[in-house]
Amino acid sequence: VYNFSAGPSVLPEQALKEASAACIDFENSGISILSMSHRSKPIDNMFAETEEYLRELMGIPENYDIVFLGGGCSLLFCMLPMNFLNQDATADYALTGVWANKACKEAKLFGNVNVACDTKSETYSRIEKNLNLSDNASYLHITANNTIYGTEWQSFPKPKSGFLMADVSSDFLARKINVSDFGVIYGGAQKNISCAGVTVTIIRKDLLGKVDRTIPTMLNFQTHIDAKNMFNTPPVFAVYVMNRTLKWLKEFGGVEAIEKLNREKAALLYSALDASKVFVGTAAKEDRSIMNVPFVFNKDVVAADKADDLAKEFLEFAKARGLQQLKGHRSVGGFRASIYNAMPMEGVQALVDCLGDFEKKVLA
Ligand code: PLP
Repeated sequence: VYNFSAGPSVLPEQALKEASAACIDFENSGISILSMSHRSKPIDNMFAETEEYLRELMGIPENYDIVFLGGGCSLLFCMLPMNFLNQDATADYALTGVWANKACKEAKLFGNVNVACDTKSETYSRIEKNLNLSDNASYLHITANNTIYGTEWQSFPKPKSGFLMADVSSDFLARKINVSDFGVIYGGAQKNISCAGVTVTIIRKDLLGKVDRTIPTMLNFQTHIDAKNMFNTPPVFAVYVMNRTLKWLKEFGGVEAIEKLNREKAALLYSALDASKVFVGTAAKEDRSIMNVPFVFNKDVVAADKADDLAKEFLEFAKARGLQQLKGHRSVGGFRASIYNAMPMEGVQALVDCLGDFEKKVLA
């Protein structure tokens, strides 16, 4: 089976096997990782190792802290402005999709927001590069990869003032980025680096402690930095799944090697869509994501009143070949193939063959 889910998503089999084994016996302790105190030495060491893997794979400099938290990326949407945006200050938000909008909505609770771009009227099918930036913004917020619309920033915009903050939930460790170009990098782990239950926030040390408001203890990033991610009971198992996934990635050859494969997989799928008479990709070519590939039926070939039934037929056709979770997001419709790090080339080839065979059936 190949699983094309947008998240929670496919993870490396090796990581899943190691995590499963740890559920019975963690590192020959005789105790399940699920039952082990987060204050114990083995868990402490595992957290330190996970941070080391992240630092090495992403090239995170020493002047950045790493925070592991539960609550999902949606909690970070509000924690970030709470910690970085003063009541009388302004943050720039580039609205390139639903997740960017959700982040923006939370920021408005804490300070002023300037909308740097908004491509909603084009169903977020492209990334606007001509941004309307404010002179004195505390930061510029972007969604590095738009999971629903299948667009990504190919190169990152420079803030006019303040720092760049990026939600990398759906392209965490999928491609090389220069951490020093960002003040804050954050995301949920359940797509490329772990299961649901943990988020990662990478914060340049000098940026914290600048807002005037009182921040509740648990929502203050400084709390978790000071307590080395052990202020309260952290999501230990999700961090362990991350640890194993990062170990796998390191053995694979790191971000450079996975980016090469990701680009090859994406190129194969996009060229099949471009050559297809029945299917068509929805994202602007120059902004295409290498992680999420939404596509629909070509309206000139499949009549609107036939599309729903044919879509069901295609999903069944794909499922019978072991290709699962290809249904598109309701706001774009059609189909979406998420081809994260752990999706092998064979999975993408199987999808391309499936598209071709279905097309023959439709055109016959
Ligand atoms: N940001 C992006 C880019 C996402 O794709 C998602 C979920 O799909 C989220 C944020 C929300 O993450 P969570 O469900 O962890 O709150």
